[in-house]
Amino acid sequence: MTYESPILIALGGNALILPGEKGYIEEQFIHTAACMTPIAELISHGLKVIITHGNGPIVGNILLRNECAKNYIPPMPLYICVADSQGGIGAMMAEGLYNELKRLGINKTVSTVITHILVDNNDPAFQNPTKPIGPYYSDSDAEFYMEQGWSMKKIPERGWRRLVPSPKPKKILELDAVKILIEKNIIPIASGGGGIPVVEGNGAMRGVDAVIDKDLSASLLARELSLKRFIILTDVDGVYLNWESADRKKLEGLTVKDAEKYLAEGHFPDGSMGPKIEAAIEFLKSGGHEVIISRPEDLIAAMDGKAGTRIRS
Ligand code: ADP
Ligand code: MG
Repeated sequence: MTYESPILIALGGNALILPGEKGYIEEQFIHTAACMTPIAELISHGLKVIITHGNGPIVGNILLRNECAKNYIPPMPLYICVADSQGGIGAMMAEGLYNELKRLGINKTVSTVITHILVDNNDPAFQNPTKPIGPYYSDSDAEFYMEQGWSMKKIPERGWRRLVPSPKPKKILELDAVKILIEKNIIPIASGGGGIPVVEGNGAMRGVDAVIDKDLSASLLARELSLKRFIILTDVDGVYLNWESADRKKLEGLTVKDAEKYLAEGHFPDGSMGPKIEAAIEFLKSGGHEVIISRPEDLIAAMDGKAGTRIRS
């Protein structure tokens, strides 16, 4: 059995709760369904698809909910919040995709795999939080939370966000389960929210408080499955040079060499576009053919080369 034909689609957590939204479940279902429409269309054309997703805004909300309720119910550690987000987002995406497929007359099982990912306990990321999670905060709220010990970063035009450590993914522990689902023609949703971060020691695994960037976990998943194409869907229509300036320029296509050069020049920040580009470089250097970065609504056009940014070796 070869896994060359399927494609991996990685959906950004930021496409599920938009800036300014409170994160009501009805809003999330609308965005999820909108993302599933083009994915269902691809599946209707016979393409095998593996889905993964981020959880930035959602896991931050789960963590905040825990903290707000801490005087009533014991708060859960961040890695359990990541597991909760895999379950919740996975359930929502499975429902959305099932319904979109049904509408097209296709009966297929969609199965969410609760996925653990091994990270290195000595990863320097634990000393330097870079991953933005949860809602955007005003200047005064951010000041309050930073006094409580949160690491925070101001995102231009949007507001402040909480930062947590984001170690590199090393090994996907449920990889065999994903392979079996693909073999059985079941659509897997795997490695959600970057995977539940765990470390190994004394013959056991143990969860650690961090959020792995889903783009890097997705790249690892795509490499482990020997895929040729990997699509990253996010809330921006492609990759830009000089993103933060008025003369920003969209790139239609770039090579690994260009990507490495622009990354080194600082065009792609940590915690947002940086990990997507790193994920693309790692995948293409390990035998992948193409990575596309686009918005969910442009997926079909992007697959036809008419939207998004394509990165090739
Ligand atoms: P996701 O949830 O899809 O992973 P991220 O917020 O992590 O979303 O990454 C997408 C964001 O990256 C965009 O909304 C944009 O604000 C930001 N970004 C930073 N640099 C760039 C760039 N060079 N080109 C395009 N987008 C960029
Ligand atoms: Mg991201």
